[in-house]
Amino acid sequence: MTDKPSQNEDEYFALRDAELLKKQRAAEEKAAIDAERKSHHMRCPKCGGHLQAIDLRGVQLDQCPDCLGTWFDAGELDVIIRHKDPGLMGRVFGDLFKKK
Ligand SMILES: [Zn+2]
Repeated sequence: MTDKPSQNEDEYFALRDAELLKKQRAAEEKAAIDAERKSHHMRCPKCGGHLQAIDLRGVQLDQCPDCLGTWFDAGELDVIIRHKDPGLMGRVFGDLFKKK
């Protein structure tokens, strides 16, 4: 059994519209996620303040000037822990506590 040409045409356009709608929704969802990520970039996850990059003895950290929360990027803590100078970690954290 074969469909009538108009039935095939209706199916074709319905499938095409559904596919276009799916792509449009996916693009809108991605744009919303990207916008939310952008709005959170360098913002404190605790209070929403604008994080500032600080340098403590050559170690770059991100700190919130409002609540003084401090964040290490991936690998930064590892650099301190494995540094050839075993006292570096104590001095970095000492400097952090002096700031509070
Ligand atoms: Zn904060």
